[in-house]
Amino acid sequence: MARLQPVRGTHDILGDKSLRFRTIFEIFKSVAERYSHQEIDTPIFEFTETFKRTLGETSDVVNKEMYTFEDRGGEQVTLRPEYTAGIARAFMSNGLQQSMPCKFYSFGPIFRYERPQKGRMRQFHQMDVEIIGVPEAQADIEVLAIASDLLDALGIGQHITLELNSLGDPQSRAGYRDALVKYFGGYKNKLSEDSLKRLEKNPMRILDSKDEGDRLLIADAPRIAEYYNQDTKDFFAKVIDGIEAIGIEYQINDRLVRGLDYYCHTAFEFTTDQLGAQGTVLAGGRYDGLMEMMGGPKTAGVGWAAGMERLAELVSEDLISKPKRPVIVAPVGADAQVPAMKIAHDLRAAGLTVDMAYKGNVGKRMKRANKQNALFAVLIGEDEMGRGVAMVKNLDQGSQQEISLSELSTYILGSL
Ligand code: ATP
Ligand code: MG
Repeated sequence: MARLQPVRGTHDILGDKSLRFRTIFEIFKSVAERYSHQEIDTPIFEFTETFKRTLGETSDVVNKEMYTFEDRGGEQVTLRPEYTAGIARAFMSNGLQQSMPCKFYSFGPIFRYERPQKGRMRQFHQMDVEIIGVPEAQADIEVLAIASDLLDALGIGQHITLELNSLGDPQSRAGYRDALVKYFGGYKNKLSEDSLKRLEKNPMRILDSKDEGDRLLIADAPRIAEYYNQDTKDFFAKVIDGIEAIGIEYQINDRLVRGLDYYCHTAFEFTTDQLGAQGTVLAGGRYDGLMEMMGGPKTAGVGWAAGMERLAELVSEDLISKPKRPVIVAPVGADAQVPAMKIAHDLRAAGLTVDMAYKGNVGKRMKRANKQNALFAVLIGEDEMGRGVAMVKNLDQGSQQEISLSELSTYILGSL
């Protein structure tokens, strides 16, 4: 027997949730476009290599969370577990080196095989912003400004904190890496299995561990700021000057590292205490090494992704755009059905939102019209048809009036 449930960790989006998603996306789109970003839509699956090489073999995403399968032609493909790698791939596939800098935004489903819980799904949705080809701190400032504007436009800026860190340039990272290997190397018997693997491949990733034992060790681990060289300090200072100039509040969190391999310099998360354990709503950073890792020329990039489901929980009901209130056309008697269709069609052509109350008890149909928050009900029966009129009920006022069919749309539009 067919299973009628959705797959664990996936959800249908309908009703109020659908309106929320649409409202948030529209606001996101308008903010991103104000910064001259253009929409990009990449395929929801890519060659597995695209993600595996870039996200890093020791990342949770690659290790445990990717939906990977072999297609019928024997290709290894993966449902996108994040946006950046696919957008970087698209940037190179389309030869956009010629048109740098490129500013993109995107929105759509993301897939990760995670343990489903509140705020953590297997298919969820991200809004994503990327600036490719700008090595200067201005781009970091700009993507942070888009994030901050978005959260303000959604009316939730006051509940959210920006946590900011610098992961340094390659030289600073190398020094810090050595210090971490030395420190964590002294606790090999206490580290979680995952972190032991990270110790060799990418010790900085240990700082992102969610294991409780690891977290105790992390508390006393060396701090990255002690390993910053002058370039790293200068770059970070520029980012901070920029966001201070435009009035974005932030907190430095020197324990913040991103889960993926390709980040350098700026790393950030916007977090809230209003969502329980899954409090990060938006996260990102700079990824100057990414394109090279994928086999392309060295190209700077910076961007972020925000979780739609988490943002949708925070946004107030008042912000959500409601569907237009409909006019309900109700034929009374079988002979009225075709003329009623024609009336509905004409009203739609005039720009009104119209629903048909196909048949049944008139009282029940009016009840449903009220439930639909209809503005008007247009009743048409044999008697009205003969006289070229319809009975128009104003459902807000509880009044009714006969209107000639030729004036119907003008009358309704005039009384909105
Ligand atoms: P976490 O530490 O919570 O696993 P992450 O570092 O894996 O987060 P990112 O890859 O930075 O998350 O994704 C950006 C945003 O996408 C997150 O801040 C969050 O809002 C959202 N997100 C990530 N994973 C999920 C998920 N499984 N379900 C719903 N939203 C998610
Ligand atoms: Mg994760």
